[in-house]
Amino acid sequence: MKRAIYPGSFDPVTYGHIDIVKRASEIFDELIVAVLNNKAKTPLFSVDERVNILNEVLGGLDNVRIVSYEGLLVDFAEEMDAGVIVRGLRAVTDFEYELQLAQTNSVLRKGVDTVFLTTSLKYAYLSSSTVKEVASYGGDISKFVPPVVEKLTYEKYGFNEGRV
Ligand code: ADP
Repeated sequence: MKRAIYPGSFDPVTYGHIDIVKRASEIFDELIVAVLNNKAKTPLFSVDERVNILNEVLGGLDNVRIVSYEGLLVDFAEEMDAGVIVRGLRAVTDFEYELQLAQTNSVLRKGVDTVFLTTSLKYAYLSSSTVKEVASYGGDISKFVPPVVEKLTYEKYGFNEGRV
């Protein structure tokens, strides 16, 4: 039984994340999507909101579980009995940071491997931060996130009737 963990902020989840989840769930027996509760940052969505949204948009995938975590990822991965960490790579700019993170994690916990899935080309430019920036100005985010995320994100920026 190969259990992997896909950690991230998912603030909010985009089609890029969903693509990685779907592909990773076909590679591993079980995939745990781990939502980081980072007390040092102020996210747009609370950790509970992010978990609920992920459950709604990923509900159809039987071998995917969504949980939140605090603290060191390697500790949480051990607690969950997951030996593999999944991360997405969009561009060269992601690479240096991700490599450093993967190597740090493998030193912190021997035996934990990080597997990188390269983004599908159509989502290569996509990030939660750009989604938030576009939404904050009332711009169209429908190509970046599922309809439920679109609605909730606009609401966060005070566009209650959807985009103006
Ligand atoms: P973090 O705050 O840890 O960077 P994110 O929620 O932004 O978390 O992303 C979680 C993971 O998903 C990271 O590995 C990131 O590279 C990956 N990811 C984010 N957007 C995309 C995308 N458009 N395509 C592929 N992978 C992505």
